[in-house]
Amino acid sequence: MAMRYQLSALCFLFILSPPSFSQWQNFSYVAMTTPIELVFWEENQQKSEAISQEVFKEFDRIEQQMSRYIENSELSQINHLAFNEAVVVSPSLFSVLNSAVGISKLSQGAFDITFASVGYMYDFRKKLKPNNNEIQKNLDLFHYQNILLDDEKHSVRFTKKGILLDLGGIAKGYSVDQGIAILKKHGITSAHLSAGGDMRLLGDKRGAPWIIGIKNPRDESKQSIVLPLSNTAVSTSGDYERFFMDEKGERVHHILSPKTGKPVKGMMSVTILANDAITSDGLSTAVFVLGVKDGLALINTLNGIDAILIDEFGKVHYSDDLVRPDIH
Ligand code: ADP
Ligand code: MG
Repeated sequence: MAMRYQLSALCFLFILSPPSFSQWQNFSYVAMTTPIELVFWEENQQKSEAISQEVFKEFDRIEQQMSRYIENSELSQINHLAFNEAVVVSPSLFSVLNSAVGISKLSQGAFDITFASVGYMYDFRKKLKPNNNEIQKNLDLFHYQNILLDDEKHSVRFTKKGILLDLGGIAKGYSVDQGIAILKKHGITSAHLSAGGDMRLLGDKRGAPWIIGIKNPRDESKQSIVLPLSNTAVSTSGDYERFFMDEKGERVHHILSPKTGKPVKGMMSVTILANDAITSDGLSTAVFVLGVKDGLALINTLNGIDAILIDEFGKVHYSDDLVRPDIH
């Protein structure tokens, strides 16, 4: 009897509200070996699918152009040729290179896409790292001033042989910004787009803020901090994303210091809030390298940019604008 009642109630509901899907549209994808998550508000299901395809295609395009691991990508061509000749670069890659160098200057070289000149010797899956001699041999290549960008010719040239560029610290942020631009172009006003630790929120969650969690760096199933946010970009860099423990029990992770060519010590995670994701992505890596004192000092000089740092002891540090003023 109860069962029959439930069934007829169900049918009734179905007739009253035909299968209009919830207007929150959810899509997932994998690009750049990273899960991409897209949520946005749009009532037309077909239109939503087309929009999501366009966003994901843009991630693929950027990966094909900017990955160091794809043999014939534009970035690989630069890596092969730019010591011998000035290589003319297409506008989108040139703008990313320019932003990368801009963040290098801002962070006094902490952020540096030439890191791969040393970084290529690390393999986190195979648990391989270079020894001190191998690092020393290449350490003078790990310096952004070895990249010469010509703004007029849109070309790039290296000053030394053996330099390798890698955009792993900034390309996902750029892709997220491109994705958001596509959503805006289609009139979307509420969206959440993330590529791993890089995310951008368009508008709010229709009247409420988006709730964004910062992971506990030593237990990813738990959140350390939860933030209500809207209309902002959020990026987190952590020592737990790609790492292995070496024979001495030390964590060998993927964010390298330009001073030592080795994984940076002193920090577990850095989250940056900014207007766009290329900035939050680049700065999260930069501040991770700079450490608590210099990293916060940098963020506190930048308007509209905030940071939440978790140091090696698990202590949380906030940039000035996030600290509640004392209420007396
Ligand atoms: P992800 O989102 O992949 O975790 P992050 O934004 O945290 O990336 O940045 C880490 C990545 O940045 C590394 O995997 C590497 O590709 C690159 N990287 C490492 N060290 C540096 C550095 N000093 N400057 C710029 N990029 C770096
Ligand atoms: Mg980054």
